[in-house]
Amino acid sequence: MKPEEIERMRDEALAAFAAADSLEALQEAKVAHTGGTSPLALANREIGALPPHAKADAGKRVGQARGAVNKGLAARQAELEAERDARVLVEEAVDVTLPYDRVPAGARHPLTTMMERVADVFVSMGYEIAEGPEAEAEWFNFDALNFTPDHPARQMQDTFFVQGPKGARGEESGVVLRTHTSPVQARALLDREPPVYVVCPGRVYRTDELDATHTPVFHQIELLAVDEGLTMADLKGTLDHMVRALFGEDMKTRLRPNYFPFTEPSAEMDMLCYVCRGESVGDPDRPCRTCSSEGWIELGGCGMVNPRVLTACGVDPEKYSGFAFGFGIERMLMFRHNVEDMRDMVEGDVRFTRPFGMEI
Ligand SMILES: [Zn+2]
Repeated sequence: MKPEEIERMRDEALAAFAAADSLEALQEAKVAHTGGTSPLALANREIGALPPHAKADAGKRVGQARGAVNKGLAARQAELEAERDARVLVEEAVDVTLPYDRVPAGARHPLTTMMERVADVFVSMGYEIAEGPEAEAEWFNFDALNFTPDHPARQMQDTFFVQGPKGARGEESGVVLRTHTSPVQARALLDREPPVYVVCPGRVYRTDELDATHTPVFHQIELLAVDEGLTMADLKGTLDHMVRALFGEDMKTRLRPNYFPFTEPSAEMDMLCYVCRGESVGDPDRPCRTCSSEGWIELGGCGMVNPRVLTACGVDPEKYSGFAFGFGIERMLMFRHNVEDMRDMVEGDVRFTRPFGMEI
């Protein structure tokens, strides 16, 4: 075992440590040069076989070489660890001076905003907000509003019954999840003496499957005015005022005959398409997606309150008349903001809500 061979082993080990540029590479060099099969370990093992006079000398040289290698390893290890720590400090540094919105502004659900916006139009005309229960007596939801006992809307396939329906197992009146906001009309009339001017926003339920254009829970806003001498002209004027307040001064409405049990006469109410203002009609060069180039958008149902409803609610139809109007908020949100899928409104994803902002 020549001294220069041991020196070579030592130098090779130190050179390998110096060349290691990462802790992983150093670990490999450590195994190769200090492990059980490294040249110096093998040399150490050979010492035992040497003649006695060479043993002490060789043992000293190998021992010194191994000491130097271990010292070199430890030094390089410390160096690389220090480098790593410095790098982590830089790479993972957090700039605490960056502006950060600690309380991110939330967003109100656009359905709420829209409902309040519509209600505000009426409140500014002197209407009062009225509310009623969502689990409603069948009598308020149907009977008081002149729905006959065999009216199809009373069927289980259209209405969620909490109790009943009426007549089943001898119940006097079932309990339903209200299918419209109209029962609030009856409640408002029973609670107040005419003149009554109320606007009723709220959640309603029907047994529809959730899809792009249907949801089993949706929102309506209902309007009721009962006073002496109210006519269809008052209704028309009120509707025109509402669409102008919501969509712009040049808006207008039209009424088409329809039938509802609780109004007589009844009408379907359309508003001028707020995008093309009716100018897409008959003009193939200017198609309008919002109204399908029809010029009008169907908004909701309305009419003069049926005298039977007034009577059922204790109001004298000889003295008073009234008008009522209701429409779906989801539908208005869909065409007003080009929301194409109703499911976006109910899934609660803040990414849908946030662009509508914090309008109050
Ligand atoms: Zn249009």
